[in-house]
Amino acid sequence: MTQDTQPTASHYIDGAYLEDTSGDAMAVIYPATGARIARVHAATPDVIDRALAAAEAAQADWARLPGRERGRVLIRAAEIMRARNRDLSILETYDTGKPLQETLVADAASGADALEYFGGLAGSLTGEHIPLGDDWAYTVREPLGVCVGIGAWNYPTQIACWKAAPALACGNAMVFKPSETTPLSALKVAEILTEAGAPPGLFNVVQGAGDVGQRLVTDPRVAKVSLTGSVPTGRKVYAAAAAEMKHVTMELGGKSPLLVFDDADLDNAVGGAILGNFYSSGQVCSNGTRVFVQTGIKKAFLTRLAERLNGAVIGDPLDEATNFGPLVSEGQLNIVMRYIETGLAEGARLVTGGQRLDRAGYFLRPAVFADVTDDMTIAREEIFGPVLSVLDFTDEAEAVDRANATDYGLSAGLFTRDISRAHRVIGALRAGTCFVNSYNDAPVEMPFGGVKMSGVGRENAKAAIEHYSQVKSVYVRMGDVEAPF
Ligand code: NAD
Repeated sequence: MTQDTQPTASHYIDGAYLEDTSGDAMAVIYPATGARIARVHAATPDVIDRALAAAEAAQADWARLPGRERGRVLIRAAEIMRARNRDLSILETYDTGKPLQETLVADAASGADALEYFGGLAGSLTGEHIPLGDDWAYTVREPLGVCVGIGAWNYPTQIACWKAAPALACGNAMVFKPSETTPLSALKVAEILTEAGAPPGLFNVVQGAGDVGQRLVTDPRVAKVSLTGSVPTGRKVYAAAAAEMKHVTMELGGKSPLLVFDDADLDNAVGGAILGNFYSSGQVCSNGTRVFVQTGIKKAFLTRLAERLNGAVIGDPLDEATNFGPLVSEGQLNIVMRYIETGLAEGARLVTGGQRLDRAGYFLRPAVFADVTDDMTIAREEIFGPVLSVLDFTDEAEAVDRANATDYGLSAGLFTRDISRAHRVIGALRAGTCFVNSYNDAPVEMPFGGVKMSGVGRENAKAAIEHYSQVKSVYVRMGDVEAPF
């Protein structure tokens, strides 16, 4: 299985590919081999300016279209994306190293869902009529203008679509900067939108690292910034946006709890912990990496988890039998291996995994630590890799307090057969996206996002509309104006 991974050019601006080799060269590395598979160039100030100018020029006419017509373009893009799912999935696998088994169902597929969903909503974005006696008011839902999207490297196609779809549905234009680690997939999203009928300049892609992101965020033409990334980056981007009162959506990191009660269905709970820790080699922001297991079920849970991890097929991500791929980069592998060493040094018990594979690429066996305590580094910091920590608990109130004792608040989940307890505990957990007897589902119909340091705003669902539009209120007086003098 091969695919040409060198894109036509580094950037996609004003409806076409654009190259400018004067920007810093960025190597694209295939994480499964460590080989360079493409090279792009970071955007220069001139390229950034062209992208923003193209977006600004496209936005006004796009916003004037009836919502239904905007929606039709997005729905057509969703159809093209689905028709090309296999090619897009292979490219996503090259970009990220995630197994094709996953990318075939989770990336372009999820991007298409977002384009279809927000395409469907675009015709229904209305204001309201507010009766005020003889007078009345009405509201209009207006776009924000030019939006900037900045992506992380774990879901390049999905992140581009989760940001572009609601932004464009609401009548905005977008300049998107993918992560410098995974620059390829977003270019295909831009191509597809053009093919689906999006006017030139409506969705642009520029490459680069944080400095390019920073330049985009601080440009006065930009009305809104949506970032998917780490908390430290979120602080910088939010602060820069605040200086000019720009709107923001912040999808940041997490250290989410997953609570397994004694009465849980064992295999479902183990399955949830696997999905919540090892999908995409553990590089998922919402992962339930602190697995609180009630003492009565702990032994059985650990035994079953270790057994099922033996079923992980680790290897060539392009082989559809593989269900566990490499980490995205050598840098990320080293970060995760350091956390494993720290876990051991601080007294956690490594039950299984944690060793680097003796082969090219950035492969690490999925790791499970038991006897982890709340104060250990691996229980406090986001690792962003395949490291699951099991923490013991005895009673519900204690588990809730400990689960909430973190600065993060992205996700939380639990496994129990007691429905009253399920809803009581979910009610007490401080997290934006929660799961009952499941973990990490992210359908486009459900809002996704975090509280506390994990973020601001919501992606997906009708909630995202609030973050890509603003309300204009209009008071209408039917009679004469009474003034004091
Ligand atoms: P990162 O914060 O290093 O980078 C994210 C993006 O921000 C990149 O495109 C980067 O170039 C850009 N950037 C960096 N500095 C910037 C600056 N000063 N101004 C503007 N842009 C800047 O994150 P990462 O390593 O790419 O991704 C991993 C992180 O992302 C983890 O913390 C993970 O939890 C988080 N994440 C969150 C979600 C979510 O939806 N909540 C989803 C995926 C990943």
